[in-house]
Amino acid sequence: MLRLLSIILTAVVCIGSCSNKPEVKQPIQADMQTEKTGNPYYSRTDTTHLNVSDAEWKKVLPADVYYISREKGTEYAFSGKYNDFDGLGTYYCAACGNALFKSDSKFASSCGWPSFYEALRSNSVRYESDKTHGMIRTEVLCGRCDGHLGHIFDDGPPPTYKRFCMNSLVLDFEPEK
Ligand code: FE
Repeated sequence: MLRLLSIILTAVVCIGSCSNKPEVKQPIQADMQTEKTGNPYYSRTDTTHLNVSDAEWKKVLPADVYYISREKGTEYAFSGKYNDFDGLGTYYCAACGNALFKSDSKFASSCGWPSFYEALRSNSVRYESDKTHGMIRTEVLCGRCDGHLGHIFDDGPPPTYKRFCMNSLVLDFEPEK
């Protein structure tokens, strides 16, 4: 009798579980970069403007990214990993994950830094006048974290004739899926 009950119970449990729809695991909107770097401000989906102190950035950014992004540094010409690079995909701010450029706006420039003729969105970047080093230039900053990215010049190709001259160190490239 006990054995019969056990068989019936097993059958009921099996039928119950077999009739359930298989559990579909939804992809998690994970910020892989955050996991990789431990940078809590990095997001490729959150476009909220950030107000983070340099002291805080210094805790979460690699030293070379901090140097460019927060101290307005410049990598050596022809030294950047995206200078001579033509992969298809999207470039994000290495400090905060903001989407900055599509690869189809990148062009071969002889200047020694990765160059683009337009930003991904009009508010991807913002601009400031830069009168340092005896020059008058227009600085390009990340529209989300205000980090320094590079400068923009008027000698680019059509259709914009602009050249966004960027530092590879503050760009994160994500290839097209
Ligand atoms: Fe940024």
